Amino acid sequence: MRVLVIEDETKVGCFIKRALEEESYAVDLSEDGAKGLEMALATDYDLLVVDVMLPSMSGLDVLKNLRRERIQTPVLILSAQSQIDQRVKGLDAGADDYLTKPFAIDELLARVRALLRRGATESPGILQVDDLVLNPATRDVTRGGQRIELTLKEYALLEYLMRHTGRVLTRPMISEHVWNQDFDTFTNVIDVYVNYLRNKIDRGRTKKLIHTIRGSGYMLKAD
Ligand code: CA
Repeated sequence: MRVLVIEDETKVGCFIKRALEEESYAVDLSEDGAKGLEMALATDYDLLVVDVMLPSMSGLDVLKNLRRERIQTPVLILSAQSQIDQRVKGLDAGADDYLTKPFAIDELLARVRALLRRGATESPGILQVDDLVLNPATRDVTRGGQRIELTLKEYALLEYLMRHTGRVLTRPMISEHVWNQDFDTFTNVIDVYVNYLRNKIDRGRTKKLIHTIRGSGYMLKAD
């Protein structure tokens, strides 16, 4: 398991790094917010331990940026501040757990173990709707065992639809989650991409999976 620790107090950072290494984790350490974010974006970590007060970029902004990039690596926030609003801000920004300094190293290790366990069970498994199968780990999509080549956007749209099977997804929801853009003049783009997907997923097949819900949006379901 690979862990990134972003902590600017050298003593604390080295202490955490050593403790984690003794538990056989591979540990990288950054003492700077922006640099830490760069590392987290470049490498597939299993867990991040992030201090709130950091030079160049706060731990909360590191976290927000990661989540914006759809990186769902579990994050344990460290903070000297025990105020409730800091805790709430951290959790709102997408933190998975929160530890107030000073902390006992055993508690940190226990929380790290818990987060890694949780991360492992929540890690995206294979998605399947009828004979349509999507593997988030490899980005492979097949229908009836036949491989389907998708562009990045088509893939993102299909994954979003498959993760919400049986639910009506409105165009604003789709534009926000797949394009990360506010819904405005975006309707056409979505309709165009849904059509691209339809051509690849449903065309020539008896059972259609992508359904238009009149006046609302789209739904993926087996019948
Ligand atoms: Ca700090």
